[in-house]
Amino acid sequence: MTNPPPAGIYIHIPFCAHKCLYCDFYSITELSLQDAFLEALFREIAATKSLLPFDSLYIGGGTPSILPAQQIGRIIERISCQFNLEETAEITLEVNPGTVAIESLKAYRQMGVTRLNIGVQSFQDSHLRWLGRMHSADAAKDAILMARAAGFDQIGMDLIYGIPGQSRQAWLADLHQAISFDPEHLSCYMLTCEPETPLERMLQRQEFKPMADGAVCDLFETTITELSGQGYPLYEISNFARKDHSPDVNRSRHNQKYWTDVPYLGFGPAAHSYLNPVRYRNHRDIRAYMADLNSGTLPIAEKETLSMEQQLMETVFLGLRTLEGISIKRFEEKSGRPFNILFQELLTDPELKKRITLTPEYCSLTFQGMMVLDSIAGLFVDRI
Ligand code: SF4
Repeated sequence: MTNPPPAGIYIHIPFCAHKCLYCDFYSITELSLQDAFLEALFREIAATKSLLPFDSLYIGGGTPSILPAQQIGRIIERISCQFNLEETAEITLEVNPGTVAIESLKAYRQMGVTRLNIGVQSFQDSHLRWLGRMHSADAAKDAILMARAAGFDQIGMDLIYGIPGQSRQAWLADLHQAISFDPEHLSCYMLTCEPETPLERMLQRQEFKPMADGAVCDLFETTITELSGQGYPLYEISNFARKDHSPDVNRSRHNQKYWTDVPYLGFGPAAHSYLNPVRYRNHRDIRAYMADLNSGTLPIAEKETLSMEQQLMETVFLGLRTLEGISIKRFEEKSGRPFNILFQELLTDPELKKRITLTPEYCSLTFQGMMVLDSIAGLFVDRI
């Protein structure tokens, strides 16, 4: 039997200079709470014990780069002292253009950050303004150039497509601009109107017309074709890694854990943790989070033990997001049921043939299938 892969650690920094219109991540703009938050975070880390080996640390948010650089160093240090974080661990920091300088980027590198993920979103000022982003396209380009100059050899960028009125040409221009910086990783997210965001309220007030589903699918297809042609094959529905000498060398080690049933610990408000079969979530409110930690309690808002059925549903839903797909061996070990018999009806359906690929090891979706991921995953889940 092979050893299970090492686990991951996520830290949620819940501060942003300003809220973007589409964002449903938990973050606040009261920057004066930073010191009190960090004290609470360090308490949470000190109160958590785990003997697992860890090979990834992801500092996300929010806007982690809004904290002074030495605070990022303190977080890495506390994590390294408390947990068995491998020396060769991937340590990712999310940064936003406009919140970094060459000095802070060099400091991150020296503190052990191995990978930067830059929230670019668009290289067009009109789109950035529409999304409610604080920075300009020039600030995004500066951040990327400074990150390279600071010595980062693992740079990822986040981009958004499906912005109302965005043409195929405009999206291609964003992709080409991104590739011109030769990043190791690209995340391309489809714009969605999440509940309770300003964008959703704008939609309800009919202040804009969302892009039609067919046009969004066209942009998704454009993304896959263009990026794979330029050496960035898709490895998850929103993620693309530069191929280099091996297809997985530039993939996000940390994010892959979320899709492959690997345990992770999350710290900070709204952070999730998963220690199979238990999943728990911290308070999505910084004051409730700090109050619990200040009174010696872990800030857990919700904890559930996943039933076997729930675990299998997650295996299917998350597996189908990835290029490799669902590991049939892992599914069968977990469920004790033969995959091909359980899903026979779907696997032999002539209509689904062009959307599902089956090998002896994996069941995955074709790119056509990924365009209707939710409905196909629903068909699998109905049969569990
Ligand atoms: S910077 Fe990121 S986390 Fe902050 S509001 Fe904008 S999208 Fe959300």
